Amino acid sequence: MSLALATPPFAILPNATPVSVADRGLMLENPGFGRVFTDHMAIVRYSAGKGWHDARLTARAPLQIDPACSVLHYAQEIFEGMKAYRAADGSVVLFRPEANAARFNDSARRMAMPELPEGLFLEAVEQLIRIDRDWIPAVEGGSLYLRPFMFANEVFLGVKPSSEYLFLVIASSVGAYFKGGREAVSLWVSEHYTRAAPGGTGAAKCGGNYAASLAAQAEAIEHGCDQVVFLDAAERKWVEELGGMNIFFVFDDGSIITPPLGTILPGITRDSIMTIARADGIELREEAYSIDQWKADAASGKLREAFACGTAAVVTPIGEVHSTDGRFTIGAGGAGQVTSRIKQSLVAIQRGEAPDRFGWVRPV
Ligand code: PMP
Repeated sequence: MSLALATPPFAILPNATPVSVADRGLMLENPGFGRVFTDHMAIVRYSAGKGWHDARLTARAPLQIDPACSVLHYAQEIFEGMKAYRAADGSVVLFRPEANAARFNDSARRMAMPELPEGLFLEAVEQLIRIDRDWIPAVEGGSLYLRPFMFANEVFLGVKPSSEYLFLVIASSVGAYFKGGREAVSLWVSEHYTRAAPGGTGAAKCGGNYAASLAAQAEAIEHGCDQVVFLDAAERKWVEELGGMNIFFVFDDGSIITPPLGTILPGITRDSIMTIARADGIELREEAYSIDQWKADAASGKLREAFACGTAAVVTPIGEVHSTDGRFTIGAGGAGQVTSRIKQSLVAIQRGEAPDRFGWVRPV
């Protein structure tokens, strides 16, 4: 294991034919989400004999993969998602990147993959941001979305942990996650599909979790909803999370609850919101909440607001919830006051517009 933890230096090989300044300007006018990519990528190799080696920052280019490459068959793959912002003073900052590095290694352990030294993870991300910093869009809410990922790269058809891996970081210039910067989203309660079972991979950020969520998300779209919300696998009763976001509930007495960890992804936005809310004197509990209670509390008015959160979508109000037995509206169906205040506090810290009272902002 000591080999795997050695940190190699990065060779920097700038892209000889970067996108022109004029074309980049056009691409950044309305970048959307996940379609505009920068000029470079970071790549590091792992093999059982050598550990992590051959770290390079190089032109973004297609990879050559053998058809027997193990990830294509057994899905040994993990990833992270994080954003670099241009702060109020013009500097470029990351938000809690150490938390992403730590979660990446939690995911690696669950998927029987080698851990990556945290320093190497951070170095790869920061080197890429430094070389591609002009790709941060100036549009409102614009940022550089970083996608670190690792996959099994052994040429072998057999179910066992791969002996070779690639770790890469790519970057995408992004604007708002929801098209049109929607005020509130609608959710579809998946009764047929579940996302994660106890002992499964729900807490890991592995590609397979997302592949398995697509049929449920398609069902949500068929029913005219924006996102799917999953219930627990054992009782089909407890609200867990959305396909790619955690969830919070705001009550008339000012208290807030969010489902406990276990089978959900431990979101860094979730953790940050919990910390901010508690520091501001809000009673915030990690507590199981059932779909029936949700419906009843929305009807009685006890539930005032609900919101989803994650790196990509930040904080997004939930307006309506649809299921096979009808639909209900939360509050007035739009952005509530508490949700707006929490979003504002979080974004102000992320963008360097408020004091970094928890030490979360890391200049690049
Ligand atoms: N749940 C799931 C399933 C997710 O994919 C994400 C996005 N990574 C989240 C929650 C939110 O996590 P974070 O706040 O770290 O982005």
